[in-house]
Amino acid sequence: NVRVRYAPSPTGFLHIGNAQSALFNYLFARHFNGTMVLRIEDTDSKRNVPHGEESQKDNLKWLGIDWDEGADKPNPKYAPYRQSERTEIYSKYIEKLLKEGVAYKDYTTEDELEEMRNVQKAHGEAPHYDGRWYGRSVEDQEKAAASGLAPSVRLHLPPHYTYSWNDIAKGHVSFDSDNMGGDFIIQKSNGIPTYNFAVVVDDHLMDITHVLRGDDHIANTPKQIAIYEALGWTHPNFCHISLIYNPKTRKKLSKRDKDTLQFISEYKRQGYLSDAIFNFIAFLGWSPVGEDEIFSRDELIKRYDPDRMSKSPAYFNQDKLDWMNAEYIRKDTVDDLVDKITELINEGETEIAKKLQKLSLTNLREFIYQVTKIYQNESYKLTDIMKHIGFYANVCDQHMDLSKLDKLSKGDTLSVLNTLSDKIKKLKDSPDDEVDFKKMIDMVSAETGISGRKLYFPLNISFTGNQSAPQINEIMNLYSYSTILKLLNNSIN
Ligand code: GLU
Repeated sequence: NVRVRYAPSPTGFLHIGNAQSALFNYLFARHFNGTMVLRIEDTDSKRNVPHGEESQKDNLKWLGIDWDEGADKPNPKYAPYRQSERTEIYSKYIEKLLKEGVAYKDYTTEDELEEMRNVQKAHGEAPHYDGRWYGRSVEDQEKAAASGLAPSVRLHLPPHYTYSWNDIAKGHVSFDSDNMGGDFIIQKSNGIPTYNFAVVVDDHLMDITHVLRGDDHIANTPKQIAIYEALGWTHPNFCHISLIYNPKTRKKLSKRDKDTLQFISEYKRQGYLSDAIFNFIAFLGWSPVGEDEIFSRDELIKRYDPDRMSKSPAYFNQDKLDWMNAEYIRKDTVDDLVDKITELINEGETEIAKKLQKLSLTNLREFIYQVTKIYQNESYKLTDIMKHIGFYANVCDQHMDLSKLDKLSKGDTLSVLNTLSDKIKKLKDSPDDEVDFKKMIDMVSAETGISGRKLYFPLNISFTGNQSAPQINEIMNLYSYSTILKLLNNSIN
């Protein structure tokens, strides 16, 4: 029975790198009909941020990633799921290792450690703990304790020993115990276990069969294997996912990178659809057989194959993301897009959303629907559509760029605009009338003998400020007759 876990530290909000780990654990669990566990690694209380856990969960849910076990869905056999609630469990195993002499108390002070590193540096050695408290007498230890020093606990590494494993993504990986920085800390002097120790105890006790995590953890894995061996446990399978890289710097995506959105909440705010983001991230560090790239969650779950996890960095490709998002916008129903846009407007977290909050149209939803329908096929993001909504709702305040009209033949342009204007003037300004503007434009063409670009450019420029616009007759539907007349007049004069 496959059991995997996503184990965020609530030290920040859901980053695209976290989302990548969560997503592959999710695909793995669902593909193999296994269990997905959500464990909160909150032992570093100083680094936890308020609402970090809640926000991680909300963003996972938005992405469509759910879990079978966690603090909110405890299985009594494995609870609790927050590391801060498991300290007694860790202490028990620390005691066991101390008793067996595999682990030992280290009373080295910060100053001594620094001196140790300086001396090593001066000798051109890599920094490492020199094992000075390994095998020390009981008297030495009692003396240090009596002087008020609080010890950390270190695990003793056997010399010249190889830790190796077959990584699902990276293949055979091995580390030599002589190059691992010396005996390492498993419990800090404040009594809190280190990440490496807590993670091993939890993964073992929670019966985790596969550990999928970012490859920034590769150097932790030999230490974790050392802990498994010390406790007499077999370790789970490991899969170190290739991290996401910034294509410009060709370095690991960093939270400081300005040219890429970092947090899943930002993608949502900017009008990316969760299905598109899910699909996009699935291709960061993995790829299916074949050329196709647009897959629903269910298809991805079906096609997921751990043997196709990539060894090399996953480059973040903004154009591809935008293309994918556009595909998903095109596939969506207008009603669903309107719901999502309305949600973004209500949340009001971007300039455009705030601007749209101020709209006071009597039939706002219908208006949003009409604009969305017009622009659905040519928008990359929901915010693109929102900008059009803002534009058409406030069209009388907009500065239309009419200079483009000057490049057209004045006679033809006036002829088109005046003929249309005459027809509009004959309409009663009653919203119940359904006017077929397409027919009306055809009549203008028939009467003036003008067609094609000479007909459409003046109309597009008058109603949108741009030479090219989609379905100008539908855009005219967004306006009252008096607004249409006003816009035509602006162009004529
Ligand atoms: N809490 C760790 C992190 O956020 C989890 C690492 C792991 O999956 O072992 O990086």
